[in-house]
Amino acid sequence: MAFKRVGIIGSGQLGRMMALAGTPLDLEFVFFDEAEASPSSNLGQNIKPSENDALERFLDSVDVITYESENTDPDLVRQINLTKPVFPGEASLKKSQHRLVEKNTFRDLGIDTANFLRVTSKNELIQATKSLGLPIVLKTTTMGYDGKGQAVVKTEADIDQAWNELAGNELIAESFVNFGRELSIIAVRGINGETKIYPIAENDHSNGILRVSRVPAKNINPKKQKQAEEFITTMLTHLEHVGVLTLELFDCEDGLVVNEMAPRVHNSGHWSMEGSHCGQFENHIRAICGMPLGDTEARHEAIAMINIIGLIGDRNSVLKLSNAHLHLYGKAERLNRKLGHINILASSESEINNSLKGLEAFINECG
Ligand code: AMP
Repeated sequence: MAFKRVGIIGSGQLGRMMALAGTPLDLEFVFFDEAEASPSSNLGQNIKPSENDALERFLDSVDVITYESENTDPDLVRQINLTKPVFPGEASLKKSQHRLVEKNTFRDLGIDTANFLRVTSKNELIQATKSLGLPIVLKTTTMGYDGKGQAVVKTEADIDQAWNELAGNELIAESFVNFGRELSIIAVRGINGETKIYPIAENDHSNGILRVSRVPAKNINPKKQKQAEEFITTMLTHLEHVGVLTLELFDCEDGLVVNEMAPRVHNSGHWSMEGSHCGQFENHIRAICGMPLGDTEARHEAIAMINIIGLIGDRNSVLKLSNAHLHLYGKAERLNRKLGHINILASSESEINNSLKGLEAFINECG
């Protein structure tokens, strides 16, 4: 039996794109979020958690529930799960919320990750720099995103500053990984265990924020392709995950190293909306509703996704391009805020580069 009414905890752009993908499948969406005006607010009913009987009403109005963020309250998910199914399940959520739990899971499952140590005092930080070797990356174990809540310790002279910045939080020290580039792999698993994997994306960041994803990632040798697929399949099976799961990867000379996972649709998978037969949002919704999964293969030889950050430029310059698709999230302009993205579909890398040149003014305007 397939579910029809989907509840989403959160009402940001990820919820919006899930609802946009699920509406043609005759599904209905209800959002559970305190936000007043949000990217999802015109796509279904909104219930504010602070309202009277909010949770009861939310549960009465949906058949299945998902969430937008790995920072979703696990107690809320556990409570909801007593009455209605929540996908991805509690294991996926809890293991993505805490970097130590996450990294221990990778290590236990034989998934390559940077060496790491728990740090709860300046003394332990000093010890960690000695046993891991400099440089290290010091991170908060929870609530870090887009490079926030972390500091690089290159030399002993950086220890004090890193400690002063992050002390008061539980911390993890990681060996600094000398990677050539950053990649991600996204897969989807259904309630019956059916699994499909998207092509690997190559991701460029600046100031800790994803700017551009390209698919397929260039020159992935078969060994690394197999490694990435094994990592994500192992994780999906271990978690009995239902829905989309993302692994962020470092591409190193002698193999891939997993940085972190996200139990959700991911910014580096936005290319799949027009770039694959069935995009990540539709596949996530199909998975949690008990429908057959769609084909994850790319439909074009070269695809790029460009994030629109902070400012929205002259949108007509994007709409004029025959191979570009504009997605705006209905958010107000603000420094470093993700406001939308552009998907470019092409038959070659050089065609992508030409399109990017055509969009230079727009992209510069967006910072
Ligand atoms: P994160 O918050 O873990 O996603 O990290 C944000 C960014 O910091 C990553 O995309 C990398 O560019 C960089 N980074 C994180 N961890 C490491 C590491 N152990 N070694 C080198 N760079 C890292």
